[in-house]
Amino acid sequence: MMVLYFVICLATGLVGLAMGALNKKGTLASIMVGTAVAYGFGWKGLILLGVFFVTSTVWSKYKSGRKNAIKQIVVKGAARDEYQVLANGGAAAFAGIMMGISHSIFWLAFFVAALATSNADTWASELGVLSKKNPFHVLKLKIVPPGTSGAVSMLGFLASIIAASLIAGVGYPIYGFSLELFIVSTAAGILGCIIDTIIGASIQEEFYCKYCSMKTEHLEHCGHRTIKSRGIAGINNDVVNLISSIFGGLAGGVWFL
Ligand SMILES: [Zn+2]
Repeated sequence: MMVLYFVICLATGLVGLAMGALNKKGTLASIMVGTAVAYGFGWKGLILLGVFFVTSTVWSKYKSGRKNAIKQIVVKGAARDEYQVLANGGAAAFAGIMMGISHSIFWLAFFVAALATSNADTWASELGVLSKKNPFHVLKLKIVPPGTSGAVSMLGFLASIIAASLIAGVGYPIYGFSLELFIVSTAAGILGCIIDTIIGASIQEEFYCKYCSMKTEHLEHCGHRTIKSRGIAGINNDVVNLISSIFGGLAGGVWFL
């Protein structure tokens, strides 16, 4: 059965590569994440992972022209690299390996909640940036330009709630989740997304371009190196996503200990 799952992950990864949703190393990472998830959770886990993969790809392509104009402030393009894949799928993959070894409901809840967090965060950032109203910075407590790390728009917040409940909601019939598992993993996904925003607003590295005065996540802007304005070295958006999906996963899993 694992051979079949591996072939499915390989085929899905190659489709992602052909569509420009993944770069080469991102494809390799996604095949590894998919295979690890299948090891612990079988085809049901792959369906949940597929919901995340397909919806996040669709939303990242949606109105991409307008988003690129806004997102000069955000660092990466549409093709996801290995860091982005592991940031969003690493916690789920780890849960897959642990589930394959221990078969505990903790790891199932961890997996669903971690994936709900990643889905919520992706939907919030891909859709929230399109909000006509400027987002609200959770720590500065003021309105800031769209795309700023640590800020959330009402549209983004609603998207994160729908995204988290979609992952838990798809798991509900195929896994035969209890209502408790559905509610806990949805709530943990939303919590993980909020933690993501708070970390993004506090310790995530942010840079400043002295040529155009723009805040950015880029190390280079306008052809010159940018100046670090705040944050801890190495804490970029990918690290923040990984930390928050682990937090979300733990919040879901701990409930069932
Ligand atoms: Zn610049």
